[in-house]
Amino acid sequence: MIKRLYRARIVLSVAVVFLVGCSVSSGQAQKGSISPTVSPTSSPVSTPFATPVSSPDHSLDRQKIIDQFADKSPTQWGEKVTGVRTRLQTKDKAIALTFDACGGGPAGNGYDKELIDYLTQEKIPATLFINARWIDANPELFQRLAANPLFELENHGHEHRPLSVTGKSIYNIRGTKNVGEVIDEVQMNADKIEALTGRRPQFFRSGTAYYDEIAVKVVNALGMQVVNFNVLGDAGATFNAEQVDQALSQAKSGSIVLCHMNHPEKSTAEGVMKAVPKLKKTGVIFVKLSAYPLE
Ligand SMILES: [Zn+2]
Repeated sequence: MIKRLYRARIVLSVAVVFLVGCSVSSGQAQKGSISPTVSPTSSPVSTPFATPVSSPDHSLDRQKIIDQFADKSPTQWGEKVTGVRTRLQTKDKAIALTFDACGGGPAGNGYDKELIDYLTQEKIPATLFINARWIDANPELFQRLAANPLFELENHGHEHRPLSVTGKSIYNIRGTKNVGEVIDEVQMNADKIEALTGRRPQFFRSGTAYYDEIAVKVVNALGMQVVNFNVLGDAGATFNAEQVDQALSQAKSGSIVLCHMNHPEKSTAEGVMKAVPKLKKTGVIFVKLSAYPLE
């Protein structure tokens, strides 16, 4: 019996590797160049946010939050633990498309130009969760995205770590070890985005989308909400176009869809381009996360 349970756990853990998957380094890109290029025909970068702002000194808050949560022990670990938002609080036929840019080497630093161009041409708002490593690899693209009013740029962490106050791991990636590391993972990228854009992110999604419930409270204490999804749109950009299309067709009023914008070599763009026109025909409107309260 124990053996069977153990085997079931192995099967389960192998299966979940493919669920969110922005965690997994998938090797080299399979087609196309992953080094982002800026089209010469594109309009120049507009610079409404170009003036860097100085980062506020958070050191006092940091110690206060560490003291506040130091003796708290988490009991939950996963994608939908207490406090994680997974949908828009609305009965409107509104769907929020969210795209992660994970960074971390050539396999994670790609830019899905086809996808972003499509959203831009079709005037489809979206929320982009961007990791610090992706920003460092793509500084010009980051500024272009920041200058595009269709998009809001949110926080996908500094080192792309699962968010734990005890160092728990998932997909063989070590989580943050303690409250101090949670704060650094969240705050350092929030500071970076604020310094570059003049706007502080209000939403956070961890690398791997895993948390314990104490770490979620720490994020809240830092003034941000933790946002995951209720529609897994591309399974870490492992879905083919039909699977992406099928996943997005499950989106309902208030759904938050998770896809990726850092895998141009995969089929996310093609799937989104199949699904969006059909969703539009059913009366769906696409919104940013900030358009409604989250639940
Ligand atoms: Zn990611």
